[in-house]
Amino acid sequence: MRPEILFPLFAEVGSLPGIGPRFAKLIGKIAGPRLVDLLWHRPISLLDWRRQATIADAPENTVVTLKLTIVEHTPPRIQRLPYKVRASDETGFIDLVFFRAHKDYLQNTLPVGDVRYVSGKVERFQERPQLVHPDRILTEQAFATASAIEPVYGATEGLAQRSLIRAVAQAVAKAPNLPEWQDQNWLEKQKWPDWHTALKTLHAPQSQDDLSPATPARRRLAFDELLASQLALCLARAHMRRVKGRSLKGDGALRAKAIAALPFKLTNSQTTALAEIAADMAAPERMLRLLQGDVGAGKTLVAFLAMLNAIECGAQAALMAPTEVLARQHAAVLAPLAQSVGVTLALLTGRDRGRERDAVVKSLASGELKILIGTHALISESVVFDDLALVVVDEQHRFGVHQRLALSGKGDQPADILVMTATPIPRTLALTAYGDMDMSRLTEKPAGRKPIATRALPLSRLDEVIGAIERTVQQGDRVFWVCPLVEENEDLDLTAAEQRFDELSKTFGERVRLIHGRMKSAEKDKAIGDFRTGNAQVLVATTVIEVGVDVPDATIIVIEHAERFGLAQLHQLRGRVGRGSKPSSCLLLYQSPLGETARARLDCLRNTDDGFVIAEEDLRLRGAGELLGERQSGLPEFRLADLSLHGELVAAARDDARLILARDPDLKTPRGEALRVLLYLFQQDDAVRTIRSG
Ligand code: ADP
Ligand code: MG
Repeated sequence: MRPEILFPLFAEVGSLPGIGPRFAKLIGKIAGPRLVDLLWHRPISLLDWRRQATIADAPENTVVTLKLTIVEHTPPRIQRLPYKVRASDETGFIDLVFFRAHKDYLQNTLPVGDVRYVSGKVERFQERPQLVHPDRILTEQAFATASAIEPVYGATEGLAQRSLIRAVAQAVAKAPNLPEWQDQNWLEKQKWPDWHTALKTLHAPQSQDDLSPATPARRRLAFDELLASQLALCLARAHMRRVKGRSLKGDGALRAKAIAALPFKLTNSQTTALAEIAADMAAPERMLRLLQGDVGAGKTLVAFLAMLNAIECGAQAALMAPTEVLARQHAAVLAPLAQSVGVTLALLTGRDRGRERDAVVKSLASGELKILIGTHALISESVVFDDLALVVVDEQHRFGVHQRLALSGKGDQPADILVMTATPIPRTLALTAYGDMDMSRLTEKPAGRKPIATRALPLSRLDEVIGAIERTVQQGDRVFWVCPLVEENEDLDLTAAEQRFDELSKTFGERVRLIHGRMKSAEKDKAIGDFRTGNAQVLVATTVIEVGVDVPDATIIVIEHAERFGLAQLHQLRGRVGRGSKPSSCLLLYQSPLGETARARLDCLRNTDDGFVIAEEDLRLRGAGELLGERQSGLPEFRLADLSLHGELVAAARDDARLILARDPDLKTPRGEALRVLLYLFQQDDAVRTIRSG
């Protein structure tokens, strides 16, 4: 239950005096429905009312304050026209312009002959200076005592800055003094203010510098937010681990046999990851581990060997992939490996029906079937395992925590979970998105991989590119041709891909195939199958191939309108080639002129193919939110912390959270009590609920 001390902050915005339902709704849109949301609505700039000017020298596009004498009122002749008030100073005349004005109000506020301090942006309209809807009008008396500097908040259409300032100020005024949840020594070392002071400072910037994310007040509040998030993750993790798992310690026989059958040696990263996984599986707690590594780094193989560990113990394992294409591919790759060690393996997707499906389900329930690979169809209720001990989730950011757990709950005892992701995530982000998991990283590429030659070319050289590709296709090369993401509109993407397909068909005839998300699965399989066997040599695709179409013989990838893709996405796409032993290339076709960020992205790709380096650069080039695709990733949205600027605070928050829970797992000490308040303040109510009661 939320502590009482926070009640005032969790009142609805509409409960503030002077905020009607219409304003409350608008505020809800930009900040959130409750007062606490207003606290986190940071100023984006400030207005310095002290900047005085005269009419003649007032700069344009800058808010200035003019000391004016009111000369005359000109009400509009017809309603549509503005109400004008003429005023002057010693340098000339200016028109104060009001649309849809109330005459009485204006006559009271701006009486002819009086002096007023009027603030706003001066414009020139038909050579005459004018000021439309002044931001502030004060009498000489009021001006003497008025605040000189005010924050400016991000607003939205119809939401006046004035009302927003007032609403935030009221929310800040309601913020109570809260017990300190940060470690006193740490605060002193950082020279950070207490929470209440930090909050007030945040909303009262006095200079441009005060808006910087590096101020002590902002960093303190960012750290509060990060600590709440890390504590919540650590609590969730502790909660999951309290659920007793089982100790899986296979004799290694199947694994040794499988490794001996491989035509290559495991990389050092693979060996390390396998040792980490084996230790987790052997421990009595449930494993929750993230296996990160670039496309082609050898994750699938690691996952397979982990499954063999479960099978050595007499149990079963499952692999869940985000798409049907991927599930099929995993099955195709792993079936021969499984066969070589005499382990049964089957595929189950939503497409499977009837007798075949029944047979799979039956042998699964009897325990005869050891490895099941599939899509989310695996979590359907009719699928029952005899003894499921390990769940591998090939994630690519498509499953939520919820689905992971649904599958792992299928055993009598909760199964161990290994999540694979081919999107290398910068450390800071990994901590916030997957902080509830342990992490293994495959940082090396398997030996013998040739680097991918990456070039960027303007789209104007398309004909040249087609010509060059025609020559390599004649020599037997296979080419992915990725069509641009036009916008958030599948139909448009499709048209682009279909047009390119038609055009390329003119050159390549029967050797081109098209694949896109709207096709039926069987058609997709056919297109990929033709491409895989070499029946087709050019595969035109929308970004469906991003999620892992694996054709080792493909050596060229062309990405059209590369400037429209994100860095991580381009890296993923490029990873479709360079999987075999032949040298490969990637052609990034871009539309000139390139923007600065787009150029930086393409340069980065040309300079490196290390996914972890690219991920860090991606984080630098754009904010954290976008990086994982907020909605899909389950990445928490931060209001005060900026992961691209406060990265080192994430790691500190993580360490702090671990230390806190190691010493005070139930948050019972006085600091623990204060931390509970922190958790509620940042609406991590669920996390508090997982704390052991009693
Ligand atoms: P990921 O799942 O990380 O994309 P995979 O496990 O699918 O990578 O591996 C990609 C390819 O590399 C596969 O053909 C696999 O057999 C091969 N491979 C895996 N590990 C190694 C290794 N240590 N040395 C050489 N090739 C490897
Ligand atoms: Mg793979």
